[in-house]
Amino acid sequence: MKHAILVEYKGGGYSGCFWEWNYFAVINGEFHNILSTGSAGVKDYEDAKRLLHDNAEPQTVNQYLYDNRRDAYIYDLNIQASINDFTANSNPGNIIGVLRYLTEHDLTDFRVLCPRCNRPHDPDEYMLDPNNYKGDGGIGIEWREFHCQDCQDEHTCPECGDYMSRDDEKDLGKYDECPNCKPGAVSEDDYTDKERQHITELETEINWLNKTYLQWPADFDRTGKITELTAELADFETDIAYRHDDRYTDRDNSLEGMLWEPKETTDTGASVTPCPN
Ligand SMILES: [Zn+2]
Ligand SMILES: [Zn+2]
Repeated sequence: MKHAILVEYKGGGYSGCFWEWNYFAVINGEFHNILSTGSAGVKDYEDAKRLLHDNAEPQTVNQYLYDNRRDAYIYDLNIQASINDFTANSNPGNIIGVLRYLTEHDLTDFRVLCPRCNRPHDPDEYMLDPNNYKGDGGIGIEWREFHCQDCQDEHTCPECGDYMSRDDEKDLGKYDECPNCKPGAVSEDDYTDKERQHITELETEINWLNKTYLQWPADFDRTGKITELTAELADFETDIAYRHDDRYTDRDNSLEGMLWEPKETTDTGASVTPCPN
């Protein structure tokens, strides 16, 4: 078994103010400077030895550990739990950068667990979610998610082909399209006459049912009916949005004939007896 450690340490030190995670690896006695920035960056093997155990040979580290004297994490690339520790806790952008470096230098005979599907894959099968990041105080971008190629293929929007994050999938459209591809609301000005008529019918009916001063039959579930019609109204407005969006108009004939015939009369399903006065 070869000696292979990855060290994550506080580098940076621009203007004496900022630090950021930097990385180097020592593999079979060979030093690899993966990322080193600012005055605190480790530039060579001598620096690396100093950061590790005060001139101890870095490659003798056979167990991953947190070096609190140095604010450094030392991962053993021979130990799966240690690799998992790195990929579960570091910034995804840094993880992808480190994996890319190790892959390009042919230093990866280990597998990495995908945080999305939890299955092991080769390190070069990973990518960042391009839509899932946040600004980290105006200096740069911090990635929030990385995932494997299988997840990339599996969680794809059928409309735009983009990868969908867990959050995106909480808010899918009627055709499992991503939130960006869902049709926008249609302005009432653009409703067809039939659409407008049906909306008006539903709204009128709901307004009637909201008149608590009317006497309703004792066995009539007024609030239940309001809930039902309100849901019907919302569904109808969603269907209008799909009908008016060119991308969806031709695709689903089941929309045809759906609630399009205006009703002759408004019928709440209950007889309404207005108050005498
Ligand atoms: Zn995956
Ligand atoms: Zn989409």
